[in-house]
Amino acid sequence: MEYERGSGSFYNYLPSGCKLCQDGAKMVLFVTGLCHRDCFYCPVSEEKKQKDVTFANERPVFSDDDVLCEARSMQAKGTGITGGEPLLKLEHVLGYIRLLKNAFGPDHHTHLYTASTPSRDVLERLHCAGLDEIRFHPDHGTWDRLAGGDLVESIEEAKRVGLDVGIEIPSFAGAQYVADLALEHTIFLNLNELEFSETNSQALQQHGFVAENDEGCAVAGSRDAALDIMDRCPGLDIHFCSSRFKDGVQLRMRLLRTAKTIAREFDEITPDGTLYYGVMDGDVHDITGLLEHLNVPTDLYECTRDRVELGWWVLEDIASEVGTSFRAWYEECYPTYGRMVVEKIPLDNAGVSNS
Ligand code: SF4
Repeated sequence: MEYERGSGSFYNYLPSGCKLCQDGAKMVLFVTGLCHRDCFYCPVSEEKKQKDVTFANERPVFSDDDVLCEARSMQAKGTGITGGEPLLKLEHVLGYIRLLKNAFGPDHHTHLYTASTPSRDVLERLHCAGLDEIRFHPDHGTWDRLAGGDLVESIEEAKRVGLDVGIEIPSFAGAQYVADLALEHTIFLNLNELEFSETNSQALQQHGFVAENDEGCAVAGSRDAALDIMDRCPGLDIHFCSSRFKDGVQLRMRLLRTAKTIAREFDEITPDGTLYYGVMDGDVHDITGLLEHLNVPTDLYECTRDRVELGWWVLEDIASEVGTSFRAWYEECYPTYGRMVVEKIPLDNAGVSNS
């Protein structure tokens, strides 16, 4: 058994889609929040749940260009298509797979999550479009009676058309039945640590789940259920993905990858993958006039709509010249779409005088 260092995840097999995810090189393409199911543990946010919206990572998608732009911003090597139930929008899914394969080549790995049981015709179309891997998500209410049903038929057809096939479900009591099915059909099993989210907290509590500790959102006992399955099914290809791994490693790796791609000459990339720079706020014409007067090289600042961003060390150097004419601060933001600001530090608080 291998462990992902310090993250609580473990596996004896890593699907290709998960390998890219570990490196932060996998884009998440959310194709519609519409879904025919109503899983009590559903983590989809209010912003997306049962809404026909598309997102590439954090970026809302209104055109193919939005998808390509996001993939380029993180130099994605692959894409995981999720939802909602993406196959409710089959033509969109097919179009996005073709788009990504055409733009980035056949090696751009694509995997798809589905809570449905697609027919051979649909599976063939997905495979022809370029889909590499499919992960089935059976209804938890049926986990103990999956044998001989539609899911089994779909799994076997998916294997026949040439897709890599697995099952992906949250890890809690009853997952053992699904593990037995995966073993019988020689497909991989991905178990996600069950976790509290803004949309499922109440339902999880009603089902008797409690948090593992005060710090994270993992559910107590979820990891043990996965360990138990691993012990009981030695021949099964299994991967348990912990909540800590998703937040601590996967996200951080994607942020670092994106930051390295989009950082300007003067942005400092922090160890967390955020960007750090200085900001001068006021009349942009006056600010650039001052910077020119102080011989600040033009590649060390950039004028945005209503302010000037510059290297934090440049701002530190010229703090005494900023005077009272402009507001100025240091800023840290995510490198992702929308550039959410994490922190603003005024010059004074950073130990540098603003006057
Ligand atoms: S299948 Fe997925 S998206 Fe649909 S309700 Fe269940 S967890 Fe949510």
